[in-house]
Amino acid sequence: MNLMYNSTRSNNETVTASQAILKGLADDGGLFVPTAIPALDKDITELANMSYKEVAYEVMKLYITDFTEEELKNCIDRAYDSKFDTTEIAPIKKADGAYYLELFHGATIAFKDMALSILPHLLTTSAKKNNVKNEIVILTATSGDTGKAALAGFADVEGTSIIVFYPKNGVSPIQEKQMVTQKGKNTKVVGITGNFDDAQSGVKAMFNNKELAKKMDEAGFQFSSANSINIGRLVPQIVYYVYAYSRLVKNGDIQVGDKINIVVPTGNFGNILAAYYAKNMGLPVNKFVCASNDNKVLFDFFQTGTYDRNREFILTTSPSMDILISSNLERLIYKIAGNDSAKCADLMKALSTTGKYEITEDMKAQLDDFVGGYSDEAKTAQTIKSIYDKEKYVMDTHTAVAAGVYNAYKEDSKDNTPTVIASTASPYKFTRSVMNAIDEKYDSMSDFQLVDELSKISGVKVPQAIEEIRTALVLHDIVCESNKMQETVEGILGLK
Ligand SMILES: *Cc1c(COP(=O)(O)O)cnc(C)c1O
Repeated sequence: MNLMYNSTRSNNETVTASQAILKGLADDGGLFVPTAIPALDKDITELANMSYKEVAYEVMKLYITDFTEEELKNCIDRAYDSKFDTTEIAPIKKADGAYYLELFHGATIAFKDMALSILPHLLTTSAKKNNVKNEIVILTATSGDTGKAALAGFADVEGTSIIVFYPKNGVSPIQEKQMVTQKGKNTKVVGITGNFDDAQSGVKAMFNNKELAKKMDEAGFQFSSANSINIGRLVPQIVYYVYAYSRLVKNGDIQVGDKINIVVPTGNFGNILAAYYAKNMGLPVNKFVCASNDNKVLFDFFQTGTYDRNREFILTTSPSMDILISSNLERLIYKIAGNDSAKCADLMKALSTTGKYEITEDMKAQLDDFVGGYSDEAKTAQTIKSIYDKEKYVMDTHTAVAAGVYNAYKEDSKDNTPTVIASTASPYKFTRSVMNAIDEKYDSMSDFQLVDELSKISGVKVPQAIEEIRTALVLHDIVCESNKMQETVEGILGLK
């Protein structure tokens, strides 16, 4: 029996995993969720002896049930190969009393690689299965890291093309350079004059535009999404939480059945939602600590039960978390509403019309597993410096938000549960902010001088992803107003 998926906003349409992956977003604007979250069917002791790829298969086969074993294993093999700089794929480093799950060893040195190195294969396999003949156009809004990881994943993948929108003034210099130097004849990168939420809203509007879909179909195209709303992103992200737990068991850090805490630096709520799914599959988790930067809309939500995006958008040194509309929260809302899609649809409607909604007491009571926290800019910089001073472990700004929030939580709660912190980017991706946090003297150096300094002080070799862009040519220079995104897409596809 296939596991089916329905929209968070209506229960009448169910689709298979491959159809959900192809569509990205449901027709009613909701997100696809499995009709029931499957339970792990292997013991942790068995998983502890498996490789990353093998664990990936054991988790993903439970969600993507309309792929054959061979198809799914083939996708996994092509994703988690030498693009990663370690065969562990997601190694764990112990520092300052926590386990840092390093999710940045892929091609673009951010955790987005964990899912985006497999999504193109899931998508092309899904297209074959469903007899799709159109070229699949991936439309993606990025706060910096998704864009590059999606570009790298889809570059020159047959039957696909990809258009990435990023906030022109809202990403780090290295992030921008990584994107605008992207090779591949099916890739396009567009800067917009707005912020990430503008980019994301623009993309969602195009997905929901039936007229545009018709025009595309006539020209032999159809959209799909590489954003974390796609179930094909969420499922591969569940894998590394199960894997991390099994490694802690294998290393003797915990016993089977012991609970762990999971701390996640959060933006769109995709990464932490994957951890929540892992718990619902049977992984023993005590608390999920949801860490925000100054855009602390989620912290306020966990405090009050009201989600309110009506506030100033703040640009921070952790740009991949500069988000006021956390799309994947909708999947949690649906779950805590007792899978009540009408209720979820009402709340999402309120969000789009008034910018806020309030959940009921019953729903709030189901959020006990979550702790919200935030770290402001000063505290994030301090965290980088103090952990470097103590341990010579250099972390990026996003991971530092999580570490800062975790340290405050631990001190307040006296909760000594073994804790995994999702380490979401290499410090090389945010070199200037990281080095400035360690010592102001670095401020006068150029971006690539800083890269070399970072290598010296951390003892970590400069990643290939950074070496590549030192001399790479800029290949993309399109910039558009945020209300002209559709025109730009039609131009690129020659629809006008
Ligand atoms: C995308 C990203 C995040 C936020 O992850 P979400 O799944 O959007 O919550 C955090 N840190 C880094 C480095 C990222 O790239």
